[in-house]
Amino acid sequence: MSTLTATDVRVVLPGGTVAVDGVSLQVASGGWLAVLGPNGAGKSTLLRALAGLIPYQGTVTFDPGPAGRGRRELARILAYLPQRPVLPPELAVRDYVLLGRTPYLGYLGVPGAGDRELVEGVLERLELGPLARRRLGTLSGGERQRAALARALAQRPRALLLDEPTTALDLGHQQQVLELVDGLRREDGLTVVTTLHDLTAAAQYAERLVLLDRGRTAADGTPAEVLTAERVAAVYRAIVSVSTDILGVPAVTPVRPGTAGIHADAMSTLRDHRPPANP
Ligand code: ADP
Ligand code: MG
Repeated sequence: MSTLTATDVRVVLPGGTVAVDGVSLQVASGGWLAVLGPNGAGKSTLLRALAGLIPYQGTVTFDPGPAGRGRRELARILAYLPQRPVLPPELAVRDYVLLGRTPYLGYLGVPGAGDRELVEGVLERLELGPLARRRLGTLSGGERQRAALARALAQRPRALLLDEPTTALDLGHQQQVLELVDGLRREDGLTVVTTLHDLTAAAQYAERLVLLDRGRTAADGTPAEVLTAERVAAVYRAIVSVSTDILGVPAVTPVRPGTAGIHADAMSTLRDHRPPANP
Protein backbone atom coordinates (compact mmCIF):
# COMPACT_ATOMS: atom_id res chain seq x y z
CA MET A 1 0.00 0.00 0.00
CA SER A 2 1.13 3.57 0.43
CA THR A 3 3.01 5.69 2.93
CA LEU A 4 2.31 9.40 2.76
CA THR A 5 5.09 11.67 3.96
CA ALA A 6 4.92 15.44 4.11
CA THR A 7 7.99 17.42 5.11
CA ASP A 8 8.00 21.06 6.04
CA VAL A 9 4.95 21.94 3.98
CA ARG A 10 4.32 25.64 3.66
CA VAL A 11 1.47 27.21 1.73
CA VAL A 12 1.42 30.88 0.89
CA LEU A 13 -1.97 31.85 -0.52
CA PRO A 14 -2.38 34.44 -3.28
CA GLY A 15 -2.49 37.66 -1.27
CA GLY A 16 0.36 36.56 0.95
CA THR A 17 -1.39 34.73 3.82
CA VAL A 18 0.77 31.90 5.13
CA ALA A 19 -2.00 29.34 5.67
CA VAL A 20 0.29 26.37 6.42
CA ASP A 21 3.67 26.95 7.95
CA GLY A 22 6.20 24.15 8.18
CA VAL A 23 3.94 21.15 8.79
CA SER A 24 5.42 17.65 8.66
CA LEU A 25 3.57 14.36 8.99
CA GLN A 26 3.76 10.73 8.03
CA VAL A 27 1.02 8.11 7.69
CA ALA A 28 1.78 4.52 6.80
CA SER A 29 -0.46 2.10 5.01
CA GLY A 30 -3.37 1.24 7.31
CA GLY A 31 -2.72 4.33 9.43
CA TRP A 32 -5.24 7.05 10.22
CA LEU A 33 -4.08 10.57 10.95
CA ALA A 34 -6.53 13.31 11.90
CA VAL A 35 -5.71 16.96 11.32
CA LEU A 36 -7.39 19.12 13.96
CA GLY A 37 -7.53 22.81 14.70
CA PRO A 38 -9.98 25.70 14.97
CA ASN A 39 -11.63 27.42 11.99
CA GLY A 40 -9.02 28.96 9.75
CA ALA A 41 -6.15 26.95 11.25
CA GLY A 42 -5.15 25.71 7.79
CA LYS A 43 -6.59 22.17 7.82
CA SER A 44 -8.29 22.34 4.41
CA THR A 45 -5.33 24.13 2.88
CA LEU A 46 -2.97 21.44 4.18
CA LEU A 47 -5.18 18.70 2.72
CA ARG A 48 -5.34 20.44 -0.65
CA ALA A 49 -1.55 20.68 -0.65
CA LEU A 50 -1.25 16.96 0.19
CA ALA A 51 -3.63 16.23 -2.70
CA GLY A 52 -1.40 18.24 -5.03
CA LEU A 53 -4.19 20.68 -5.84
CA ILE A 54 -2.44 23.88 -4.80
CA PRO A 55 1.19 25.01 -4.92
CA TYR A 56 3.24 24.48 -1.77
CA GLN A 57 6.81 24.55 -0.57
CA GLY A 58 8.34 21.47 1.04
CA THR A 59 7.79 17.91 -0.10
CA VAL A 60 4.89 15.46 -0.24
CA THR A 61 5.62 11.92 -1.31
CA PHE A 62 3.73 8.67 -1.69
CA ASP A 63 5.74 5.52 -1.39
CA PRO A 64 5.24 3.70 -3.70
CA GLY A 65 4.28 6.68 -5.80
CA PRO A 66 2.11 6.98 -8.91
CA ALA A 67 3.13 4.87 -11.89
CA GLY A 68 3.54 7.97 -14.02
CA ARG A 69 3.09 11.68 -13.94
CA GLY A 70 -0.22 13.49 -14.21
CA ARG A 71 -3.63 13.69 -12.53
CA ARG A 72 -4.88 10.37 -13.80
CA GLU A 73 -1.95 8.47 -12.34
CA LEU A 74 -2.22 10.32 -9.02
CA ALA A 75 -6.00 9.69 -8.91
CA ARG A 76 -5.34 5.94 -8.94
CA ILE A 77 -3.51 6.13 -5.65
CA LEU A 78 -5.14 9.13 -4.01
CA ALA A 79 -8.74 10.21 -3.51
CA TYR A 80 -9.50 13.61 -2.05
CA LEU A 81 -12.88 14.63 -0.68
CA PRO A 82 -13.22 18.40 -0.33
CA GLN A 83 -15.00 19.99 2.61
CA ARG A 84 -17.71 21.35 0.31
CA PRO A 85 -17.77 19.19 -2.80
CA VAL A 86 -19.44 20.74 -5.83
CA LEU A 87 -21.93 18.22 -7.16
CA PRO A 88 -23.59 18.68 -10.57
CA PRO A 89 -27.28 18.98 -9.50
CA GLU A 90 -28.74 17.25 -12.57
CA LEU A 91 -26.56 14.15 -12.37
CA ALA A 92 -27.95 10.97 -10.82
CA VAL A 93 -26.16 9.58 -7.77
CA ARG A 94 -25.09 6.35 -9.51
CA ASP A 95 -23.65 8.20 -12.52
CA TYR A 96 -21.81 10.57 -10.23
CA VAL A 97 -20.26 7.73 -8.23
CA LEU A 98 -19.32 6.06 -11.51
CA LEU A 99 -17.22 9.15 -12.28
CA GLY A 100 -14.88 7.86 -9.57
CA ARG A 101 -13.85 5.18 -12.07
CA THR A 102 -12.63 7.79 -14.58
CA PRO A 103 -8.90 7.29 -13.82
CA TYR A 104 -9.24 3.62 -14.85
CA LEU A 105 -11.30 3.97 -18.01
CA GLY A 106 -9.88 3.36 -21.45
CA TYR A 107 -9.66 5.73 -24.37
CA LEU A 108 -13.39 5.84 -25.02
CA GLY A 109 -14.17 6.43 -21.35
CA VAL A 110 -16.88 3.77 -21.16
CA PRO A 111 -17.20 2.01 -17.79
CA GLY A 112 -17.24 -1.78 -17.99
CA ALA A 113 -19.18 -4.39 -16.03
CA GLY A 114 -16.41 -4.47 -13.38
CA ASP A 115 -16.65 -0.72 -12.84
CA ARG A 116 -20.43 -0.91 -12.49
CA GLU A 117 -20.22 -3.80 -10.06
CA LEU A 118 -17.71 -1.96 -7.91
CA VAL A 119 -19.94 1.13 -7.86
CA GLU A 120 -22.96 -0.94 -6.79
CA GLY A 121 -20.90 -2.32 -3.91
CA VAL A 122 -19.89 1.16 -2.77
CA LEU A 123 -23.50 2.43 -3.04
CA GLU A 124 -24.61 -0.46 -0.91
CA ARG A 125 -21.94 0.04 1.75
CA LEU A 126 -23.00 3.66 2.12
CA GLU A 127 -26.73 2.82 2.05
CA LEU A 128 -27.10 4.86 -1.12
CA GLY A 129 -28.82 2.09 -3.11
CA PRO A 130 -32.32 3.54 -2.67
CA LEU A 131 -30.99 6.96 -3.77
CA ALA A 132 -29.00 5.71 -6.77
CA ARG A 133 -31.39 7.19 -9.35
CA ARG A 134 -32.00 10.46 -7.54
CA ARG A 135 -30.51 13.67 -8.92
CA LEU A 136 -27.75 15.10 -6.73
CA GLY A 137 -29.62 18.42 -6.49
CA THR A 138 -32.43 16.73 -4.57
CA LEU A 139 -30.28 15.20 -1.83
CA SER A 140 -30.06 16.40 1.76
CA GLY A 141 -26.72 17.69 3.06
CA GLY A 142 -25.82 14.38 4.66
CA GLU A 143 -26.85 12.39 1.58
CA ARG A 144 -24.71 14.65 -0.59
CA GLN A 145 -21.77 14.09 1.71
CA ARG A 146 -22.17 10.32 1.48
CA ALA A 147 -22.52 10.49 -2.32
CA ALA A 148 -19.26 12.45 -2.50
CA LEU A 149 -17.55 9.91 -0.27
CA ALA A 150 -18.92 7.10 -2.44
CA ARG A 151 -17.32 8.66 -5.50
CA ALA A 152 -13.98 8.91 -3.66
CA LEU A 153 -14.21 5.23 -2.64
CA ALA A 154 -15.17 4.16 -6.16
CA GLN A 155 -11.77 5.49 -7.16
CA ARG A 156 -10.28 2.56 -5.22
CA PRO A 157 -7.41 4.69 -3.96
CA ARG A 158 -4.53 3.62 -1.75
CA ALA A 159 -4.78 6.83 0.24
CA LEU A 160 -7.89 8.76 1.26
CA LEU A 161 -7.80 12.45 2.12
CA LEU A 162 -11.12 13.45 3.65
CA ASP A 163 -11.90 17.03 4.64
CA GLU A 164 -14.51 16.96 7.40
CA PRO A 165 -16.32 13.93 6.01
CA THR A 166 -18.83 13.78 8.85
CA THR A 167 -19.79 17.41 9.39
CA ALA A 168 -23.22 17.24 7.69
CA LEU A 169 -24.07 13.81 9.06
CA ASP A 170 -26.32 12.77 11.92
CA LEU A 171 -24.84 10.65 14.69
CA GLY A 172 -25.72 7.32 13.09
CA HIS A 173 -24.33 8.21 9.70
CA GLN A 174 -21.22 9.73 11.30
CA GLN A 175 -20.57 6.42 12.95
CA GLN A 176 -21.36 4.54 9.74
CA VAL A 177 -18.88 6.59 7.70
CA LEU A 178 -16.12 6.48 10.32
CA GLU A 179 -16.53 2.72 10.76
CA LEU A 180 -16.49 2.23 7.01
CA VAL A 181 -13.27 4.19 6.65
CA ASP A 182 -11.81 2.32 9.61
CA GLY A 183 -12.70 -0.99 7.95
CA LEU A 184 -11.04 0.09 4.71
CA ARG A 185 -7.82 0.97 6.44
CA ARG A 186 -7.75 -2.21 8.49
CA GLU A 187 -8.79 -4.63 5.74
CA ASP A 188 -7.37 -2.99 2.63
CA GLY A 189 -4.46 -1.11 4.24
CA LEU A 190 -5.74 2.27 3.09
CA THR A 191 -3.73 5.29 4.23
CA VAL A 192 -6.19 7.75 5.77
CA VAL A 193 -5.89 11.45 6.53
CA THR A 194 -9.00 13.29 7.68
CA THR A 195 -9.69 16.67 9.11
CA LEU A 196 -12.33 16.40 11.82
CA HIS A 197 -14.14 18.91 13.96
CA ASP A 198 -15.27 16.37 16.49
CA LEU A 199 -12.29 15.91 18.80
CA THR A 200 -13.77 12.89 20.53
CA ALA A 201 -14.41 11.12 17.23
CA ALA A 202 -10.87 11.99 16.13
CA ALA A 203 -9.52 10.41 19.32
CA GLN A 204 -11.65 7.31 18.82
CA TYR A 205 -10.70 6.64 15.22
CA ALA A 206 -7.32 8.20 14.45
CA GLU A 207 -4.11 6.78 15.86
CA ARG A 208 -2.28 10.01 15.44
CA LEU A 209 -3.39 13.62 15.67
CA VAL A 210 -1.82 16.77 14.30
CA LEU A 211 -3.26 19.86 15.92
CA LEU A 212 -2.87 23.02 13.86
CA ASP A 213 -2.99 26.53 15.21
CA ARG A 214 -2.70 29.40 12.74
CA GLY A 215 -0.95 27.21 10.21
CA ARG A 216 1.59 25.71 12.55
CA THR A 217 1.72 22.39 14.34
CA ALA A 218 0.71 23.06 17.95
CA ALA A 219 0.86 19.38 18.90
CA ASP A 220 1.47 16.06 17.22
CA GLY A 221 1.09 12.64 18.80
CA THR A 222 -1.40 10.09 20.06
CA PRO A 223 -4.89 11.29 21.03
CA ALA A 224 -3.99 11.09 24.73
CA GLU A 225 -0.84 13.16 24.18
CA VAL A 226 -2.51 15.85 22.08
CA LEU A 227 -5.95 16.27 23.63
CA THR A 228 -5.33 17.74 27.05
CA ALA A 229 -7.83 20.23 28.49
CA GLU A 230 -5.07 22.86 28.72
CA ARG A 231 -4.07 22.51 25.09
CA VAL A 232 -7.64 22.50 23.78
CA ALA A 233 -8.30 25.61 25.87
CA ALA A 234 -5.23 27.35 24.48
CA VAL A 235 -5.77 26.47 20.82
CA TYR A 236 -9.59 26.55 20.56
CA ARG A 237 -10.21 29.15 23.26
CA ALA A 238 -12.80 26.81 24.71
CA ILE A 239 -13.29 25.45 28.18
CA VAL A 240 -13.49 21.70 28.09
CA SER A 241 -13.13 18.74 30.34
CA VAL A 242 -11.23 15.73 29.06
CA SER A 243 -12.11 12.33 30.44
CA THR A 244 -10.43 9.09 29.51
CA ASP A 245 -12.30 5.90 28.77
CA ILE A 246 -11.22 2.43 29.81
CA LEU A 247 -9.15 2.07 26.64
CA GLY A 248 -7.28 5.28 27.44
CA VAL A 249 -9.04 7.21 24.67
CA PRO A 250 -9.80 10.82 25.61
CA ALA A 251 -13.31 12.26 25.27
CA VAL A 252 -13.62 16.03 25.07
CA THR A 253 -16.72 17.66 26.52
CA PRO A 254 -17.38 21.40 26.40
CA VAL A 255 -17.98 23.05 29.77
CA ARG A 256 -20.04 26.25 30.00
CA PRO A 257 -17.74 29.04 31.14
CA GLY A 258 -20.04 30.10 34.00
CA THR A 259 -20.07 26.57 35.36
CA ALA A 260 -16.36 25.83 35.04
CA GLY A 261 -15.80 26.39 38.75
CA ILE A 262 -18.71 24.16 39.73
CA HIS A 263 -17.42 21.58 37.28
CA ALA A 264 -13.94 21.69 38.77
CA ASP A 265 -15.47 21.32 42.27
CA ALA A 266 -17.56 18.38 41.06
CA MET A 267 -14.50 16.75 39.56
CA SER A 268 -12.49 17.10 42.75
CA THR A 269 -15.44 15.84 44.79
CA LEU A 270 -15.62 12.81 42.54
CA ARG A 271 -11.91 12.25 42.92
CA ASP A 272 -12.09 12.57 46.70
CA HIS A 273 -14.91 10.05 46.88
CA ARG A 274 -13.48 7.53 44.50
CA PRO A 275 -13.05 4.21 46.28
CA PRO A 276 -9.43 3.50 47.11
CA ALA A 277 -7.55 1.43 44.57
CA ASN A 278 -7.00 -2.20 45.41
CA PRO A 279 -3.87 -2.60 47.48
P1 ADP B 1 -9.53 25.41 8.08
O1 ADP B 1 -9.84 24.37 7.08
O2 ADP B 1 -8.62 24.97 9.17
O3 ADP B 1 -10.75 26.05 8.65
P2 ADP B 1 -8.43 26.81 5.80
O4 ADP B 1 -7.30 25.96 5.38
O5 ADP B 1 -9.69 26.72 5.00
O6 ADP B 1 -8.72 26.57 7.33
O7 ADP B 1 -7.96 28.33 5.78
C1 ADP B 1 -6.76 28.75 6.41
C2 ADP B 1 -6.64 30.26 6.27
O8 ADP B 1 -6.42 30.58 4.90
C3 ADP B 1 -7.88 31.02 6.69
O9 ADP B 1 -7.47 32.21 7.30
C4 ADP B 1 -8.60 31.29 5.40
O10 ADP B 1 -9.40 32.44 5.48
C5 ADP B 1 -7.44 31.47 4.45
N1 ADP B 1 -7.77 31.09 3.08
C6 ADP B 1 -8.17 29.87 2.67
N2 ADP B 1 -8.37 29.85 1.33
C7 ADP B 1 -8.08 31.10 0.90
C8 ADP B 1 -8.04 31.73 -0.37
N3 ADP B 1 -8.38 31.07 -1.49
N4 ADP B 1 -7.68 33.03 -0.43
C9 ADP B 1 -7.33 33.71 0.69
N5 ADP B 1 -7.32 33.17 1.92
C10 ADP B 1 -7.68 31.89 2.03
MG1 MG C 1 -11.58 23.53 6.45
